[in-house]
Amino acid sequence: MATLATRMRNLSSKTRHKVPELEVLRLMAEHNPASCHLQLLDTVSVKQHELPIYAMKIGHADSTKPALALVGGIHGIERIGTEIILAFVRTLLARLRWDDALRAELDEVQLWVLPAMNPSGMWLNSRCNAAGVDLMRNAPVEASTAVPLLLGGQRLSRKLPWFRGIPDQLEPESAALCKFARTHLFPAPFSMVLDCHSGFGFKDQLWFPYACTNQPIEHLAEVYAFHKLLAETYPHNIYTFEPQANVYTTHGDLWDYLYQGALAEGRCFLPLTMELGSWQWVRKNPRQLTQLLGFYHPILPHRLERVLRRHLTFLDFMKDAVRSHANWLPDDDERLSFEAAAQQLWYA
Ligand SMILES: [Zn+2]
Repeated sequence: MATLATRMRNLSSKTRHKVPELEVLRLMAEHNPASCHLQLLDTVSVKQHELPIYAMKIGHADSTKPALALVGGIHGIERIGTEIILAFVRTLLARLRWDDALRAELDEVQLWVLPAMNPSGMWLNSRCNAAGVDLMRNAPVEASTAVPLLLGGQRLSRKLPWFRGIPDQLEPESAALCKFARTHLFPAPFSMVLDCHSGFGFKDQLWFPYACTNQPIEHLAEVYAFHKLLAETYPHNIYTFEPQANVYTTHGDLWDYLYQGALAEGRCFLPLTMELGSWQWVRKNPRQLTQLLGFYHPILPHRLERVLRRHLTFLDFMKDAVRSHANWLPDDDERLSFEAAAQQLWYA
């Protein structure tokens, strides 16, 4: 703990300026010691500065409870994902000062946030990390179907986007995420992830594995049950929900890799990716296109606030769904009909 405190104090003023999200997280932990604690997973360096990769646990649920992890910043330039998670954390920490019901809830579900997984990419305002590797193409997973040229992951050059890195070598950020998942998520009786991204689309999308194949995952009935729960609870929700491979296939997806790892251990681990459609805010403010960041992040303050508000309900829903997973996961009687419905909906 001393090492962490020292390292956090040593965050240079330049780091504070370039990646203020790290400072926000540090201050949240410092001001709310009874409600959360910050763990240092690893450090990475960029331009002679050492940057921390943090995981924060909110509440006091022990390792026998189900677990949810909210992940952001894997693509450094897609900062809106980080902002959405930090906005959610801010609300939770404020509530935990007075809300007995929330305190009791967070004794029953492990809530983890890892909002800045790629701090060197955030420093550089780039999608990849400081070594030029796209972390979401970095896992040792080969797609079994054709992938789009370059976008699906490439090993031609680290100067081109979507570079996969060296074969079978996880970048430090990817390794930290995998180690975290194996330590804190896989052992839980049930676990989910929401990994927050933004891309140049029209809609807000939720994707589930696989990215590497058009074949369904083994927990198709469970994913369908989650989708059904969301649709029944929030019939007017804004998300399209589908397997990532229905949008595009890739090599090296970290969630494919971790899903398969959890499956091999007989665990039920469901990672989702949220891909925010940036065209929704770009078309209302085309001047955004004059800044690279504007492709991936709402620039105008009122639009940023709207985006931050827009997803709080869903994050809260995920927390509650994971906590109460036993009440909606399919039983043996439902499994076959859920699988058939999912096949019809997504794979017909
Ligand atoms: Zn992304």
